[in-house]
Amino acid sequence: MAESNFIDYVKIYCRSGKGGKGSPHMHRAKYQPKGGPDGGNGGRGGHVILRGNRNYWTLLHLRYDRHIHAEHGGNGGKNKSTGRQGADAYIDVPCGTVVYNAETGQYICDVTEHGQEVILLRGGRGGLGNVNFATPTNQAPRYAQPGEPMQEMTVILELKLLADVGLVGFPNAGKSTLVNALSSAKPKIGNYPFTTLEPSLGIVPYRDGRSFVIADIPGIIEGASEGRGLGLRFLRHIERNSLLLFMVPGDTDDIKHEYEILLNELATFNPELLEKGRVLAITKCDLLDDELMELLRDTLPQGLPIVFISAVTGMGLQELKDVLWQEMNSESNKIAAIQGYETIVHHDKDFSHLRTELQDEGEDEELGWDDEEDISEDIEDIEDYEDFDYIDEEDENA
Ligand code: GDP
Ligand code: MG
Repeated sequence: MAESNFIDYVKIYCRSGKGGKGSPHMHRAKYQPKGGPDGGNGGRGGHVILRGNRNYWTLLHLRYDRHIHAEHGGNGGKNKSTGRQGADAYIDVPCGTVVYNAETGQYICDVTEHGQEVILLRGGRGGLGNVNFATPTNQAPRYAQPGEPMQEMTVILELKLLADVGLVGFPNAGKSTLVNALSSAKPKIGNYPFTTLEPSLGIVPYRDGRSFVIADIPGIIEGASEGRGLGLRFLRHIERNSLLLFMVPGDTDDIKHEYEILLNELATFNPELLEKGRVLAITKCDLLDDELMELLRDTLPQGLPIVFISAVTGMGLQELKDVLWQEMNSESNKIAAIQGYETIVHHDKDFSHLRTELQDEGEDEELGWDDEEDISEDIEDIEDYEDFDYIDEEDENA
């Protein structure tokens, strides 16, 4: 079988940059043999930053680049010159990517918005050069602080589609055909179970230039939520859909029973899915005559909007769009979507407020690094640094 282009899971090794070393350089000029310390600070190592990017729909682009390294900071130099800052490494991911620590399985963060940045691994801070350690009693310190170490982590990135409407139905219910009929997306269509291995998104144009996103998820088979079959892997993608469109063919023997089986599958996978708004579409109604449809109405499930459609003749499609739009915008469904799932998208704004720092600021203290702003306070603690190795650049350059 051809390999799927829909990459919804990748494992990546990430490493931030080391901080550059502080310089222990002593200034020396011809007529100024004891010029004093002039070693500059090391530069910060590069961060590894996750960034939401709406131009990506899959994790395919990360498949071939599984080692992400940020640049190391440059070392400090003489004349108080500060080392170069290491370049940050960005990992662009589609909106709806969930990040886990691969070793511990621990959840790290969600990247849900275009432009959102999350600092996954901080670059090491640069060490202080010896100019920072001069005191009245030690005017010529010949030591400097090493750079802070780099950090590394293997992460799992998992994509969860963010769609407004997720289609729920057994194989051959007509899901792909409906996505085709409603949108410009072109999912593969076949007459066999599991023909649609790649969930596909469709943009459905609505009135007044409004549109919504519909996701065709490969068939849920009975028992899939217990790990059998392919369904489970793909069920993940509807967790975030704000509305579920159940699809049952009109020529099914017992429509209500089939709807209940689908509901049961969802509940077993994740009971929270039952809190979402639901609409039921009876599909392939071109195969039924009016009389049969009237008879069917009495046997259908209660308590949710039901629309008779045919993707082939176009019957009921406008009504379906109206019902979906209405349900999507109903207050109760909106609240469910906002509480459980972040689906808010900002466009082209300043996203600095979205940048999240994941690392605990406190944990560096014992190493002797404080926030960059507080460099002056570090000078008090010079004894802490006396044991560190230092390079005597002066000797090397002599
Ligand atoms: P999926 O597995 O749910 O994605 O189902 P598909 O969209 O692949 O459709 C399965 C089969 O049903 C295909 O042979 C379609 O041509 C057929 N089909 C889909 N929608 C309709 C419809 O509205 N009317 C009729 N008569 N056949 C349909
Ligand atoms: Mg399909």
